[in-house]
Amino acid sequence: MIAANNPSLMAWIPVPQGSDFPLQNIPFGIASIDKGPRFVATRIGNHVVNLAALFRRGYFKDLPYSLEDFDSDTLNAIMKYGKLATRDLRNRLSHLFEENNQELQSNSVDCKEILVAANEVTLHLPIEIGDYTDFYSSKEHATNVGCMFRDPANALLPNWLWLPVGYHGRSSSIIPSDVPIHRPFGQTKAEGEDPKYGPSQRVDFELEMAFYTFEGKGLGHQITTEEAEDHIFGLSLFNDWSARDIQQWEYVPLGPFLAKNFASSISPWVVTLDALEPFAVDTPLQEPKVLDYLKFQGKKSYDIQLEVYLQPKDGEEVKICTSNFKYMYWNMAQQLAHHTVNGCNIRCGDLMGSGTISGPTPDSYGSMLELAWKGTKPIQLPDGTERKFVQDYDTIIFRGFSVFNGIKIGFGEVRTQLLPART
Ligand code: MN
Repeated sequence: MIAANNPSLMAWIPVPQGSDFPLQNIPFGIASIDKGPRFVATRIGNHVVNLAALFRRGYFKDLPYSLEDFDSDTLNAIMKYGKLATRDLRNRLSHLFEENNQELQSNSVDCKEILVAANEVTLHLPIEIGDYTDFYSSKEHATNVGCMFRDPANALLPNWLWLPVGYHGRSSSIIPSDVPIHRPFGQTKAEGEDPKYGPSQRVDFELEMAFYTFEGKGLGHQITTEEAEDHIFGLSLFNDWSARDIQQWEYVPLGPFLAKNFASSISPWVVTLDALEPFAVDTPLQEPKVLDYLKFQGKKSYDIQLEVYLQPKDGEEVKICTSNFKYMYWNMAQQLAHHTVNGCNIRCGDLMGSGTISGPTPDSYGSMLELAWKGTKPIQLPDGTERKFVQDYDTIIFRGFSVFNGIKIGFGEVRTQLLPART
């Protein structure tokens, strides 16, 4: 039984009103204290729970794991045991922190070892990411980009409504929250001029979510839409940084390259698909009808509210976008089924980005490119300045959460400052 389905579940650790981390969440991440060793962690309210310490003190006796799985720099070791084992682990944690459970609560020595104030830990990239694939699954985003760069009458390319378009990205430059990036250099070309080399003048964010996979089925095997969720561990917020001027010049004919692979920022907590189950909703109507291997049963999209904030240097943060993961035209099960339909194998720790998540209204567009409509409608900030793209020293912050039946489950945030090009 998944704890997230129980709205009355209360923790004996205080959970402040509106916290992203009630007992129904139990996300997974990697933490350390000072410069000490990293450990597998979860979070409840303003406390981080050290799972390695829980293991050492005998609280996971009935589970298949060993100490090294938690005394680890990544979540890959616990993910190797697969969906059922991580579900059992999450349920064990929920039970341990239930209001009336005295097992750990009554042991002050163990509590001291196991619980850390959230502001005392550093959070790290949670997973050693193998392959990174980025999809392009928001119809509104693809339509907006098609209108701006091609023909409004034929904004979507002919394949878009038939398959989840994607490309293979690069995992080496995926970084955790709070790590600043520098404005990238590259080749750009203005209309009627020769190409030139220099710092990008059009650095943009892409509001995305990304999911991590468990081990797949091996080379040559397909994962069906019905099997897909057994291979999905959980989701994080994902800022797929993009340099629009570099992108525009380089992308023909093989797609994005250096415009995309200089950095992508990911939030530290992985919220499991199990935790998101109460927030499952129908996928938008798909017309024309999809081919058989992309058909699916039930609710496979998720109602996750997404917000983007821009914080100028020494200024206050300003909300510039409100979107929702449920707007995605293609759901994760279809993305995974399509990815493996040719026998391409996915592995434990692979990452799949959703593509920029834009909604139907101009305030729900998931990139500066769309919000400022290719620079023609600059975003006005309260400090009197305006933005067409991200400026040096701006910090971009994504937040995401789901609310249903009085329960809120949040993702925390991913925050990245853009620094000037390196000199
Ligand atoms: Mn992207």
